[in-house]
Amino acid sequence: MARVTRFAPSPTGPLHLGHAYAALVAAARGDRFLLRIEDIDSARCKPAWEAAIYDDLRWLGLVWETPVMRQSSRAPAYAAALDRLAALGLTYACACSRGDIRAALSAPQEGVIGPDGPVYPGTCRGRQGEGAVRLDMGKAMALLGEVGFTETGTKAGQHHFDATFMAREVGDIVLARRDIDTSYHLAVVVDDAAQGITEVTRGEDLFSATPIHLVLQGLLGLPSPAYHHHRLIRDDQGKRLAKRDDARALAKYRAEGATPADIRRMVGFQAMGSEITTSSPSRSAV
Ligand code: GLU
Repeated sequence: MARVTRFAPSPTGPLHLGHAYAALVAAARGDRFLLRIEDIDSARCKPAWEAAIYDDLRWLGLVWETPVMRQSSRAPAYAAALDRLAALGLTYACACSRGDIRAALSAPQEGVIGPDGPVYPGTCRGRQGEGAVRLDMGKAMALLGEVGFTETGTKAGQHHFDATFMAREVGDIVLARRDIDTSYHLAVVVDDAAQGITEVTRGEDLFSATPIHLVLQGLLGLPSPAYHHHRLIRDDQGKRLAKRDDARALAKYRAEGATPADIRRMVGFQAMGSEITTSSPSRSAV
């Protein structure tokens, strides 16, 4: 079976060394390599950043299939998925602000911070109202039993998550925000299925979000891909690079005369055939 992978950046800033590494890993692990622009947050995404993404990736030597999927054009698919979850009786509207949630957690210092923020105390569950749409995780897990996936990256092996884990560590996640008719989790699951992705490659910071994606795939009747969470590129203080780390922007290295081979060396990436061997990135270069 052809291995289908994707790189899914958000056009909210310049691509930096961490993105270059993520894109190289995705491209090397796929027989078919797809690109997806994750631009649901229109307030933060800019066309100029999207153009810069294509330019940087081309310069790195990557080739992807077209047309590129753009999440801003996928609202009907997200709405259909939400309707399906609502028809299963698994969603409810939540009117809580962040402050309300903090106040409702009786001992906030003990509140668990999950992959979707503080684990929601369930204040609006069972109420009728307007607001963000949440998934009733208890009901969802009662339907599914448990979820699991095969990891081929830094935490290689089989991983399983039961109802107790999902209630304690994840809770009733947001499926659609008040200002955006979807969420990262819903969009990524719907789109990975629509693009036929067989292995999701992404940074290990998103490992904890993967159980959420398994739950949504199960509820929506979508196939679950394999997952490959890769190491993160860090700065010399050991901090993961973020979009605001313009100092590590590819554009800056390009302007200084770096070659694509230099970038591969800096992030510790060598692809040999379809196998990937990685060495430690040279810190001084990052
Ligand atoms: N758009 C996400 C990001 O920029 C990546 C999502 C994913 O790979 O699942 O970090």
